[in-house]
Amino acid sequence: MPSGTLFIVATPIGNLEDMTFRAVRILKEVDLVAAEDTRHSRKLLTHFGISRPLTSYYDHNQNFKGNYLLERLQGGESVALISDAGTPCISDPGYQLVRDAVAAGITVVPVPGPSAAICALSAAGLPTDAFIFAGFLPNRAGKRREKLASLVAEQRVMVFYESPNRLLATLEDMQELLGAREVVVARELTKIYEEFVRGTLPVVLAELEGRQIKGEVVILVAPADAPEAPPAEAVPQLLRRCLAEGVSLKDAVKRVALETGQTRSAVYDEALRLKGEDE
Ligand code: SAM
Repeated sequence: MPSGTLFIVATPIGNLEDMTFRAVRILKEVDLVAAEDTRHSRKLLTHFGISRPLTSYYDHNQNFKGNYLLERLQGGESVALISDAGTPCISDPGYQLVRDAVAAGITVVPVPGPSAAICALSAAGLPTDAFIFAGFLPNRAGKRREKLASLVAEQRVMVFYESPNRLLATLEDMQELLGAREVVVARELTKIYEEFVRGTLPVVLAELEGRQIKGEVVILVAPADAPEAPPAEAVPQLLRRCLAEGVSLKDAVKRVALETGQTRSAVYDEALRLKGEDE
């Protein structure tokens, strides 16, 4: 008998209008819906007129529940995995189930929709060409600071999930370890009290300190400033160093132009001048 399909279905992160037509259709068609919290998800399903059987799948039962779901899939049934909000597997249970399903040759189909990280990034106003999703920082201050210290030189926007209770402590650690970077705190996305607090870390901290922070938050941190290009005066010195290392003139010009931000032709002229001096 052919295996069934495992659907990974995203659900709203607050605003129910963000449920997709496809998510509703798939959830109406599958044999079984696996959810983190069945009581919470029953409300969502009822809202959309979905009455498929629900079973729980969460962090602490995923070992034995995963096997149960795989057996049902192998028996030809289709299963949809949903989480409490957003996209399953993104700082939510599901990764192991997907991995096991793939290993068992079961087709896994994503049904995309909201995810707080992408939602926050899309409206943050920070560069979006490259970013890293760093998930939740460790709860313990020491480990959290260690993790932040390891990200000091990160050149892409960093996206973190955080609990409202730890938000200020985390921002303070970020200020201390990452400096006065640009940061965006995106709170209660897609909900009534949606808010973006933007500015440098000291400005955002000053704005949030003394406030009681409620709801869910995403923190986005701008990358470290690109290291300053060495000034034009450094060109002869860098050229001499490259040539002394046996780098060809052509490659030395290329390398120094990149390092200093000078044009290749300016660097080439300088290289010819040095050559003339040496002869
Ligand atoms: N799987 C979810 C997703 O795709 O976004 C994330 C689940 S994770 C357990 C929950 C965290 O996501 C929250 O602590 C918060 O950092 C972020 N989050 C979820 N919904 C949010 C919202 N409406 N506004 C801001 N952050 C949100």
